[in-house]
Amino acid sequence: LARNPGEPEFHQAVHEVFDSLAVVQERHPEYNDMAILTRLCEPERQIIFRVSWVDDEGNVQVNRGFRVQFNSALGPYKGGLRFRESVNLGIVKFLGFEQIFKNSLTGLPIGGGKGGSDFDPAGKSDGEVMRFCQSFMTELHRHIGEHTDVPAGDIGVGAREIGYLFGQYKRLTNRYEAGVLTGKGLDWGGSLVRKEATGYGATIFAQEMLAARGESLDGRTAIVSGSGNVALYAIEKVHQLGGTAITASDSSGYVVDEDGIDLGLLKQIKEVERGRISEYVDRRGGRAHYVAGGSVWEVPGDVAIPSATQNELHENDAIALVKNGVRAVSEGANMPCTPKAVDIFQDAGIAFGPGKAANAGGVATSALEMQQNASRDAWSFAYTEERLTDIMRGIHQNALETAEEFGRPGNYVIGANVAGFRKVADAMMAFGVI
Ligand code: NDP
Repeated sequence: LARNPGEPEFHQAVHEVFDSLAVVQERHPEYNDMAILTRLCEPERQIIFRVSWVDDEGNVQVNRGFRVQFNSALGPYKGGLRFRESVNLGIVKFLGFEQIFKNSLTGLPIGGGKGGSDFDPAGKSDGEVMRFCQSFMTELHRHIGEHTDVPAGDIGVGAREIGYLFGQYKRLTNRYEAGVLTGKGLDWGGSLVRKEATGYGATIFAQEMLAARGESLDGRTAIVSGSGNVALYAIEKVHQLGGTAITASDSSGYVVDEDGIDLGLLKQIKEVERGRISEYVDRRGGRAHYVAGGSVWEVPGDVAIPSATQNELHENDAIALVKNGVRAVSEGANMPCTPKAVDIFQDAGIAFGPGKAANAGGVATSALEMQQNASRDAWSFAYTEERLTDIMRGIHQNALETAEEFGRPGNYVIGANVAGFRKVADAMMAFGVI
């Protein structure tokens, strides 16, 4: 890790995986002999580039673009692009590293990568976002392709940004290569259920964890953070499964609605108007109230689905959740719980689903989008959702059984890390030292 100074999130992600892998190394010394772990920590390629663009006032702006192509043992690099001011190499590497194991767990042929920029689309005009995306793709197009590297969305990159990126890729290459990006619009190669997939998947994972303990989401309350793509559809699936999601948040505060979040209203504010969560309360009325700042994890509930960002749920939050009787925690976001928070859940015997398993539904459905593009087909919502549900159940079962196999029953962190790692490691062993 001394080779990667100033990358605390990457260090955190690597530590978390390595802690779990001690059990595998004992049984498989051959992985050590082939330096699998050392090679896994070194991205196969990392690209950092200048992104210059002109804002609405005619000023030249300069941002930094990243694409980390981490591991292609199982397939083309696959992972989202994040556009947010806080993006730096360490964050992209943590996300790319996690993505290797997550993608492996889906059982689909995809490697791990991630990218993004310190550009934030919030507060920018459509024209500015378009000019930024075109400049970003003008460099990125040299490094991606349906058999090489297939980026997708993440924080700050939704259908609008993917549209501008895809348009520029098509123009530069003169190829309608639908499989080069996922998260596309439904009229031009996108997949039904992709928008819903990560949130749906995280809730299905929570349901599976509860079912493994003879419980269910039906009649339970859920505490959800965030109000972006993942959070909205985690809430939707909670309601479909008979539970009630009573919170949502953004980086300014959170709302509690004891009658259950009105998803139609929340989608209108967040997806259509791109507004703030604070607007929900005035328009909803009833028992809903807004708390500026604060921690949504103080609200009592049976299931927690953190769906905003990394390290958003700390030790104190975990203590509060356990005290309030939480039964299961399913990570919709990437690494939202700090290592200490995870320890608290596990020590208390709470079912804890780590992001690389619990939020894998998004990338799995992206791989289903690639399958549809490759066969020039478009599947129905029902069929695609059925595939997603099967994949999530499979990931849960795999993590559960692997944890048991390695003597740590119920420990989904170890189960997911080991199951994800083994497949990648075996492929790397087969390829020799490359
Ligand atoms: P969005 O940009 O759609 O939404 C992010 C949400 O989190 C917004 O409501 C945002 O509020 C809130 N948020 C951001 N930072 C903070 C903070 N510091 N404190 C509280 N709230 C915050 O992103 P997604 O929903 O797509 O992604 C959320 C998480 O899920 C990320 O960790 C992402 O990597 C992960 N993920 C996403 C997948 C996907 O398919 N979209 C797939 C797998 C993982 P605000 O508007 O104030 O910024």
